[in-house]
Amino acid sequence: MAYAKGLHEVADGVWAYLQPDGGWGWSNAGLVTGDGLSLLVDTLFDLKLTAEMLEAMRRASTSADRIATVVNTHANGDHCYGNALLAGSDIVASARCAEEMSALPPTTMAAMMRAAPSMGPAGEFMARIFAPFSFDDVPLALPTRTFEGQLDLRVGGRRVSLLEVGPAHTGGDVIVHLPDDGVVFTGDILFHGSHPIVWAGPVANWVAACDRILALEPEVVVPGHGPLAAPAAVADLMGYFELLTREARACFDAGMGVLEAAREVDLGPYAGWGEPERLAANIHALYRDFGATAPADALTLMSEMAALAG
Ligand SMILES: [Zn+2]
Repeated sequence: MAYAKGLHEVADGVWAYLQPDGGWGWSNAGLVTGDGLSLLVDTLFDLKLTAEMLEAMRRASTSADRIATVVNTHANGDHCYGNALLAGSDIVASARCAEEMSALPPTTMAAMMRAAPSMGPAGEFMARIFAPFSFDDVPLALPTRTFEGQLDLRVGGRRVSLLEVGPAHTGGDVIVHLPDDGVVFTGDILFHGSHPIVWAGPVANWVAACDRILALEPEVVVPGHGPLAAPAAVADLMGYFELLTREARACFDAGMGVLEAAREVDLGPYAGWGEPERLAANIHALYRDFGATAPADALTLMSEMAALAG
């Protein structure tokens, strides 16, 4: 299927909403319909983008007039900052996701964007990657219902399982499985065509999440960013983590710093993936897994990603 902006029907009454090019902030979402009502998988990074998506969904299905449930796969703003447009819907997330959402609401993001010009290279990098989005005056609608582990829902007659697989990308990652349709919405457990970014880790947990997706034997995998995928893309991501773990371990044992390691690692078949600056965050996460005691704060990560992005 072509990687075009908008809705793509991936099973009968089930759509993915894609936002090329899938880079920083350009997330995917999903619509699951059944018997006159529907479930939305994630909102977008700002209100304008989310409103545009909801309009497209209403044109595609009358069931989108009544979105009974919103699932936030995780707390990054590009998957939940549009929640305010879904007042009246149940908003469901893992308990850890709900905590993380409170910690970085859009008002904080807006303040960071205003401060960005005085924050050096890290600020310039943030200002550049998030320039297309608007965080001003965005109220955040927090989850109205949280769960741990697994939550089985029904959308009309359709079964929908929410499976908590974090901490991995963030602390509270959830994937959405439609067992009767062969579809999995992975949230940011899968970035298709670009580097993942390990905000939380451990990496072993992310690999286990990939295993879990493969065990579901989906026909269609809707990634959090990038084009629609087959399970092979999930297996590729496991290969990426395996290789990066090996490469980073050698750098760690040689006493290299993270930036030096990020420039040193040989990515082999994954060298062409987008947003390679995320290696800084990913190698920091692996160094933590290896026992490094100095966790990097967000500003350090942004500075190092800015340095790699050039
Ligand atoms: Zn995302």
